[in-house]
Amino acid sequence: MIIVLKPDSTAAEIGAVIARVQESGATPHPIYGIERTVVAVVGETRHVDREAFLKMPGVEKITSISAPYKLASRESHPDDTVIKLNGLRIGEREIVIMAGPCSVESRSQLLETAHAVKEAGAHILRGGAFKPRSSPYSFQGLGLKGLEILAEARELYGLYIITEVMTPQAVPLVAEYADILQIGARNMQNFGLLHAVGRVQRPVMLKRGMMSSMEELLMSAEYILAGGNYNVMLCERGIRTFEKYTRNTFDLNAVPVLKQLTHLPIIADPSHATGRWDAVPAMALAAVAAGADGLMIEVHPRPDEALSDGPQSLKPERFAETLRRVKRVAEAVDRTLSTVPAEALPLRSPAPADAHAPLA
Ligand code: PEP
Ligand code: MN
Repeated sequence: MIIVLKPDSTAAEIGAVIARVQESGATPHPIYGIERTVVAVVGETRHVDREAFLKMPGVEKITSISAPYKLASRESHPDDTVIKLNGLRIGEREIVIMAGPCSVESRSQLLETAHAVKEAGAHILRGGAFKPRSSPYSFQGLGLKGLEILAEARELYGLYIITEVMTPQAVPLVAEYADILQIGARNMQNFGLLHAVGRVQRPVMLKRGMMSSMEELLMSAEYILAGGNYNVMLCERGIRTFEKYTRNTFDLNAVPVLKQLTHLPIIADPSHATGRWDAVPAMALAAVAAGADGLMIEVHPRPDEALSDGPQSLKPERFAETLRRVKRVAEAVDRTLSTVPAEALPLRSPAPADAHAPLA
C-alpha cells in the first residue's frame, strides 16, 4: 500500500508516518517526489491499520499497489528514476552509451578499445573481469587484474566503468572499482546476489534472464530496491526462442512496456540480443526508436581474436558509424545523446562504507 502525504505535509508529519509504519512491523520506503511525498509500505503489512494512518496529520489518502513489484512499479513512483553518476544522468532525455569488449583480455586490448569508444562518443566503458561462461573450459576473465585495468582506463579516458559481479562475496571488491555493477542474465534470479547488491549504494544494471518474463525481471529488481538500493536500471538483452539465426530474440516490446510498468531506466543490449555484429547497428537504432534510455554495445579492435563474443562485437569504426546514426534516430524521437561535461568526469565518489559491511 501507499500512504500519500499532502503536498504541504511537514517533515515531522512524514517522520511520524514512517515511525508508525515501522511500529506496525512493515517496512516504509519514503519516496520524495517534486510535489509530494509518498511512503510505500512493503513487507509484513498484516498489522498495518489503514484507518489509523488516515487520521494522522499530513496524510491525504491511502492507495493499494496492484503490481507484485511494489517499489519497482510506476504506481508507487510515477516520476522516472534518474541515476546520477557525477555529471552523467541515466533515465532522462539524454541517452547514454556503454561500450567495450565482452571481456577484459589484456591491458593493451582494453586501453585500445577504451580510447576508440571514447573518441566515438561513449560514456561508460564495459568489460568483464569475472565472466559467466557456459563452459568451464572457456576464458573465465582476468579477475582482479581485469578490475585494475578497467580502473586505469577510467582514469586515462574519463569513462565510467560497468562490469559484472557474479557472487555476493565479490560485491565489495567489484564495487570498489566499478561505477555500475552489472548483474548478468544468468544471475538475474541469484537472490543472494540481489540481496548483496541491494545493500551497497553503487548503481546496478540488472540484465533480463534469457528465459525470464518481464514480471520476473521486475521482481528481481524489487529485491534490490527492497534492500535499500534505489539506483537500479534494467537491461533487455534478448530472450531464448526457437529462432536459430540469431543468438537470442531481441524483445523490443519490453522497452516500451517496461517503461510503462516501471520508473527504472531501461538499457538495451543489441549485441547479446542478436549475437551477430551485422545485426547490431540496426537493432541499436530500433532500441533507441523504441524508447531505450541507453545502449550497451560490445566493441573489440580485432573481433576475430576476441576471447569471448567476437562474432557480435563491432570494430571501432563501425561502432563510431553506428553512434552517428543512433544520434540521428535519437533526435527523431526528441532525445539526444548525452554529453557529459568534461569537469564532471574524473572521479566517482569513493566506495561507500557499507560496501564493506560483512554479508549477512
Ligand atoms: C555480457 O554482458 O558480456 C554478458 C555476459 O551478458 P549477458 O549476461 O546478458 O549474457
Ligand atoms: Mn558478452
